[in-house]
Amino acid sequence: METKFDIIVIGSGPGGYASAIRCSQLGYKTAIVEKYKALGGTCTNVGCIPTKALLDSTEHYHTAETKFATHGINTGKLSLDFTQLIKRKSEVVEQNINGLNFLMKKNKIEVFEGIASFLNDKEISVKGTDGSSTTISSTYYIIATGSKPATIPGVEIDKKRIITSTEALSLPEKPKSMVIIGGGVIGVEMASIYARIGVEITIIEYFDSLIPTMDKDLGKELKKIFTKQNIKILLSHKVQSAKNNGKNTTVSFLDAANAPQEITADYCLVAVGRKPYTEGLGLENTGVELDSKGRIVTNEKLQTKVENIYAIGDVVAGAMLAHKAEEEGIFVAETINGQKPHINYKLIPGVVYTWPEVASVGYTEEELKEKNIEYRVGKFPFSASARARAAMEKDGFSKILSDPKYGELLGMHIIGPRAADLIAQGVIGMEYEVTDEDMFRISYAHPTYSETLKEAYMIASGQGAINI
Ligand code: FAD
Repeated sequence: METKFDIIVIGSGPGGYASAIRCSQLGYKTAIVEKYKALGGTCTNVGCIPTKALLDSTEHYHTAETKFATHGINTGKLSLDFTQLIKRKSEVVEQNINGLNFLMKKNKIEVFEGIASFLNDKEISVKGTDGSSTTISSTYYIIATGSKPATIPGVEIDKKRIITSTEALSLPEKPKSMVIIGGGVIGVEMASIYARIGVEITIIEYFDSLIPTMDKDLGKELKKIFTKQNIKILLSHKVQSAKNNGKNTTVSFLDAANAPQEITADYCLVAVGRKPYTEGLGLENTGVELDSKGRIVTNEKLQTKVENIYAIGDVVAGAMLAHKAEEEGIFVAETINGQKPHINYKLIPGVVYTWPEVASVGYTEEELKEKNIEYRVGKFPFSASARARAAMEKDGFSKILSDPKYGELLGMHIIGPRAADLIAQGVIGMEYEVTDEDMFRISYAHPTYSETLKEAYMIASGQGAINI
């Protein structure tokens, strides 16, 4: 086995594996080190992929339960095989891992299984689960060790009753009830999965809105939709502790009037964010520095304080998203190669895979107000879309923010069917500095969900919509 490489990537999540592939494509002798037997990191194993598999399954169930009869489809009494639901999720994950194994072979990337730990700026040891240790060296390193779930004071995760998203993806049986601490992206996706199959869900959120970092209109609309789905939402509530009672858990919190309250449920899912992961990496043997939040400090080239060591993805500053990690992985490979790549961080889309989906790119209204940037708004409801009516998908809206002088797009915020795919239009438009008028003077297929954007551009530009 080779022990000397041009580039070693540590961590095989979306940042690490995409980076390793690009490094290899550019002609570098590349290795990747992964602590776990399965490649793919958080995203493939316990993040993006398994959540979407469960979201899809439970969405089918929910549609059958709530809409089939109206479509004239009679199924008889529906029942849910929870074990099969979880099994299919695991199979989807497996398929993705197999795909990554194939890609590593295809691109001639050497894979090391074990914990990578820096011995100095040029060498790392890889410790296997069998206790073996191999020393390998490289000219460059790309750290892509990702993140782990965080918690709050008073709430200790025991992985039994007080769990993280990882355990919530593989519960042994369908629970009756679940309290979710945190109404951010992971919290609301998990709420959707379980509420759709009849689990009593309570979300406790510290801020006054669900998905509080996104445009406020999205959180308001999502709250309305979730309430219709029987999800209980407690905003401006502060969790103080969670206790494992053996067969269930009790969560204590202060309500919006600061009065103490408690709820008992089968599980308490802690979804309060994630923290960068650098444990065991041996950074103390290098000059790599961390900031006050434990993130690896990098410059604009994603280079750490040590010239030959780069860092990408969840372990550095910025949005904790798979596609951001991937972009950074490719950016670093091309930077090492002497190219001048570019990432526009303002245009990394954020998506929430509830149903309807939520997607956002560019500035929010709140950000524009805070920065004193003038803007105009175009907002068009899905209830006025012929396609949405045909599909019984009338909740939500498409919202455009544009500059009042030239009409340049400043932000796009959608809550509605297929918002995750629609948002790509906003990313392209904003990257190439198009105006709202440019966007509505092109033809949109009828009937499509994308027509809601055309109408929103028309409203933003001051021309007025056709269908409302
Ligand atoms: P990771 O994917 O975390 O991978 C890091 C890898 O490094 C891990 O495999 C780890 O074992 C390995 N590692 C760590 N230390 C060492 C070491 N010393 N030696 C060797 N290996 C090491 N993002 C989206 O964009 N879309 C989504 O739909 C989405 N859904 C999510 C759902 C959930 C429930 C969660 C938890 C996250 C979700 N995310 C989603 C976020 C996404 O998973 C992360 O942003 C992404 O995985 C970060 O990629 P990364 O390459 O930085 O690190």
